[in-house]
Amino acid sequence: MDKEDKRRYFVVGSVYLEVVTPLFQQKLEQKYQDLNFRCLKDFLDRKAVIHILFHLRHRNAWCCTDKANCTNQGALPLNHHQWKQLYAENPGPGIHNCFCKYTAKSIKPADLDLSLCGLILYNCCNLGQLDEEAVHILRRNKNDYLSHNTTCGITKDEYGPLMDELKTNILQLDQTKEDELIRIQKDHWMMLCVTNTQQSFLISKKYWKRLTPK
Ligand SMILES: [Zn+2]
Ligand SMILES: [Zn+2]
Repeated sequence: MDKEDKRRYFVVGSVYLEVVTPLFQQKLEQKYQDLNFRCLKDFLDRKAVIHILFHLRHRNAWCCTDKANCTNQGALPLNHHQWKQLYAENPGPGIHNCFCKYTAKSIKPADLDLSLCGLILYNCCNLGQLDEEAVHILRRNKNDYLSHNTTCGITKDEYGPLMDELKTNILQLDQTKEDELIRIQKDHWMMLCVTNTQQSFLISKKYWKRLTPK
């Protein structure tokens, strides 16, 4: 892996950190505000929402109400930590394993990371097919190229199609993000140029030393 692979990895990381994460958070906020919920907590306490999320975390559980919408997932997309971030168990003895045992915590969209925010958007927000697909692809690419990438590098062959896909799906969710994407790519080129200049300077100093007799 060369330095360029690393640079490309950092560009993609910055796109996720600076563009996709805030975009998901804004989208979630906009979605629950459209439904007339004041805050994320109220939205998460909505029966339909807590019921969906409950079954994304709990297997083989059948609820005391709304049984028709109970599901049983093969894999659990929501991990323990994420569930705990969203919901607290009500005080008192828990009679059964059911969504009615939990109440949402007071959290803001800005507290959620990309993965959790995307999961709520994808499963609970009726985004419409195109937006839903965009959220799915953006989450999947983060897992494939950043989270599960042990070399911390992205090759030239991967980078072109990946950036095209990121751009298409980001703009599907928000048309105004194009300038920001261009800025991030430019910033990283600049940084690379500065690093290269510093290195050439050090190298030339070494040569100069070698060439100058003491
Ligand atoms: Zn119950
Ligand atoms: Zn249920």
